[in-house]
Order: sequence, then C-alpha cells, then structure tokens
Amino acid sequence: MSKKLFPLAIIALLASSAPTAQISAQQQTKLFDGDSWWAHVKFLADDRLEGRETGSEGLRKAEAYVVDQLTKAGAQPAGVNGYYQPVKFVSREIVEKDSSVALVHEGKTEPLALGDDTYFNTRVDLATEEIAAPLVFCGYGLKIPENNFDDLAGLDLHGKIVVYLAGSPSQIPTALSAHYQTLGERWKSLREAGVIGIIGIPNPASMDIPWSRISLNRTHPSMDLADPEFNETSGLQVALTFNPAQAEKLFAASGHKFAEIADLGKDRKELPRFPLGISLKSHAAVKSTSVESANVIAKLPGVDPALKNEYVVLSAHVDHVGIGAPINGDRIYNGAMDNGSGTAALLEIAASWHTHPEQIRRSILFVFVTAEEKGLLGSKYFAAHPTVPAKSIVADLNIDMFLPIVPLKVLKVQGLAESDLGDRAREVAQAFGVRVQPDPEPLRNAFIRSDQYNFVRHGIPAVKLDVGFDPGSPEQKIFKDWLTNRYHAPSDDTAQPVDLAAAALYEQITRQLLISTANADARPQWKPDSFFRRYATAAD
Ligand SMILES: [Zn+2]
Repeated sequence: MSKKLFPLAIIALLASSAPTAQISAQQQTKLFDGDSWWAHVKFLADDRLEGRETGSEGLRKAEAYVVDQLTKAGAQPAGVNGYYQPVKFVSREIVEKDSSVALVHEGKTEPLALGDDTYFNTRVDLATEEIAAPLVFCGYGLKIPENNFDDLAGLDLHGKIVVYLAGSPSQIPTALSAHYQTLGERWKSLREAGVIGIIGIPNPASMDIPWSRISLNRTHPSMDLADPEFNETSGLQVALTFNPAQAEKLFAASGHKFAEIADLGKDRKELPRFPLGISLKSHAAVKSTSVESANVIAKLPGVDPALKNEYVVLSAHVDHVGIGAPINGDRIYNGAMDNGSGTAALLEIAASWHTHPEQIRRSILFVFVTAEEKGLLGSKYFAAHPTVPAKSIVADLNIDMFLPIVPLKVLKVQGLAESDLGDRAREVAQAFGVRVQPDPEPLRNAFIRSDQYNFVRHGIPAVKLDVGFDPGSPEQKIFKDWLTNRYHAPSDDTAQPVDLAAAALYEQITRQLLISTANADARPQWKPDSFFRRYATAAD
C-alpha cells in the first residue's frame, strides 16, 4: 500500500470522517526504520561541524547538507535566495576582566564573584556605564492581569533593580505562566513600574542544568536580531542571573532567608515581596560584533486548487551552541539530540514523499531555523517575515530534542489543550497505539522554550511533540539524568544510547499528523478558552 496516490475524492472523504487517523494509520506501511534518521544525526553532530554555532562554518556546512538532502528529495526551494533566508544578528560578549558586580550595604561594598555568585545576561543590550540602585525582591516578578495576579503591586520600584525567583504560583495555568516569563513580557510590566534592572534566581526545583555547568559557559557570546524592530528589552540597563546556592547574600539585610523563598517556590506557592535593604553596583564591559546566518525553507506543494495556497509548517532548529568550555576534555557541544534529531526528522519526512508519494490538499513548508539557542531568533525572524503570505500559514508542528531515548509509549504534546491541533495529535497518536499527555513538568516552561512559540505569537496554532514518560515511572529518571548530564553538554553526541524504533515511530506519527492537518477541511483553530487565541485575533 505504500506508494499509492490518493485520489482527491478519497482524501476529502478521509478528511471529513471522524476516524481519519485510524484509517490512514492502518494503511501506512512502516516508512521509517530509524537507521537513516540516525545517519543524518551522525553527520550533523559530527565533530567536523563543531557544534553548529550560529554564524559558524560548522552551521554553514550543516545547512549545505540540509539543502543537498532537500534537493535530492525533490522538495522545492521556498526561501529568499533559493532555499536560504538570510538573517542578520548582533553578537555580544561580556569582557569579565573589565566588568564588576558588588552588593552595597550601609556603605560597605561586598564584591561578587562572576561565575560563582552571578553572571551578566548579554541577551540584553546592557548599559556600559556604572549602575547603582537599591534591590527589591518581588516574588516571581510577574504581573498576570488574566488571573488578577500582580507581584509588583504596592511596591515602589521606580529606579530599582528587581530580584525574582524563576517560576510562577500554581494557580496560573502552565502556558500562561510560561508566556509571562519570557524576557520580553516580563520586562513590559517591570519597565512600566520604573524598574531599571533585573536579577533572576533560577528555581532550584526546576533547574535542568546544575549551576556549575551553567556558569561554565556564561561568557559564551549571546546574540540578538540586528533589526531594532525586534528589541524587546529597551530600557533594561542591567540583567544578572544569580546562583541560588549563593542567594542568601541578597537576602542578608532583609530579615528573610532565601531558603524560605526557595521552599515556597518549590511548591509553586505565592511569595512574599519586600525591599532587600541593599544596593547593587555593577559595570558591564561588552564586545559587540555582526554575524550573518540563514534559515532554510523548502516546500511540498498541495494539490487542492484553493487549499494549496495554505501551508502547514514543520519546523526544527539546525543550530546548536558550538564550541565551549571543556567537560571531560571535550570542547565540542555536538547537539545530537538538540537538535540534530529534529533536523534529521524533517529531512526524513521530506524525503518520505519522494519514496512514498501521497497527495495532500494544503502545501507543507519545511522550515529549518537558525539561532534557536540564542533565544528562538531564527524563528522569530521567520514568523515576522515569512517567505509565504503570513495568513497562509495554518499551523506549526515543531520538533526540538524529541528525545527517543526510551520506547515511545506516551507522547508529550506541548500546546495539547490550546487548539484543535492538540486533539488531532491525540487522534493520530492513538491510531498508532500511543497515548498523549500534557506537559508533566510545567515549571520547565517548555512551551515557550522552542520555535513553536514564535508561530503562536503570530496567531498560528502550534504543537511540539516529544517522547514522554509517566510521572513516577523508571523512565522519568532516564530523562532527568539526560538533562543533568547531556543537555547542552559535549556528551549530547552520537556515542549516547538511542532508541531507533522510538525515533521511527515518532516520525511516522509526525508525518501522519502533517497529512491529517494538510487534508482537513478547516484550518486548525484555537480553543475558545486558550490564552493564545488573542494573537490570532490581533493578527486579523
Ligand atoms: Zn538547546
């Protein structure tokens, strides 16, 4: 049954009847074996590609490989310059030897150690003059009007630097809290309150990476899109991340203990808010350079005379974090799972139409983005300047580090409850005998942490699918260990264990979800009660 072309009438029939996914899934033969997927990952995560840093020769080689594979698969170029969509960046690097941070209390200055205590966040265009301002602890630092939640209420924050714990109280729905914790959204309400700087303390209950590893690469350059239209943090003069293990230093003059705060934060309880009774004095020396990179875009045309002008996007980032501080003597952060795995899945799914053609009503757009690791920048650029008409994009399925490291029995769906794309994902997965679950770890903010989020911000329903686990199962530990040891470390390479059957099944489900979305009569819709629906209304 594999190479069969569906006449349009049958496609329409499949699309309109309820058990669509079931029928199609039964008709599918196994299109993927995992082996060719892993071969792509091996190329992309090879040491020769040096971790695919944005702007590097390694990423250029990876993208040339992607273009070569797309050409062989017969996918059509859909960028600006062939398959490519050039994107310009500014890169910022902190010069720590010329920078300093200190706490000032009753005239006494206590210098802080860059690295052990804190580090500058160069994602922000930091002021280069000396900054001195009082510190105020304001809980999670969030203002969420939808839930009448306001950590800033009643505090005098004018000219102050705000200290906050990452996270949110449990009464705030996951996606909403993730949204308000983006730097841009958080800064909007802080700026309105007159704040000039921020010190974020990672929540010890939800840190993916231990501080020792975070601080190891703190001087690695950050990037932002060069075009000022994308600057979301103007007015923010100083931004620091503070080691939770040293955070008592910030609270010493406040009559409170950080331990008490962390304890409440662990259970997502509401936090007290109070002036810290000390000031911060800081000076940041930053070196800026220009960087050029590109997104890579290909299309598979649909056949329906009207719907072919609409697009279902399948996206994945190609970049990773490059060469960094050595761990066990290895300096190359290969990024096999993050996100060689997703890039390879897109290549495999694109190529599957070459070997197993299947007519689709809407067109499919394969979007390989750059600079995800720099703050979702390539997708931010694409979503603002798409290479097809903005309103023609009906959905985004994003693949990022889907982690086929255990058998695929349960599929984690980010955005499950937000749109009917989530229902469709459930239906398709179930047809393959796979259960779905919403994010079991809301504190990790996964919904805003990959490229689907930029599509969401432009009103486009999106989901991200990952291999999941049941809370409390033995698999949970496998995932936890993976994050602690391999996530953004040189050991995310091709020497790690992988479940090829899980990868193959994941690809099959994703392909089927693409087909099902592309063939449906109606484009995906936000749920009436979804917070993110507002962006669709705003885009009209
Ligand atoms: Zn990553």
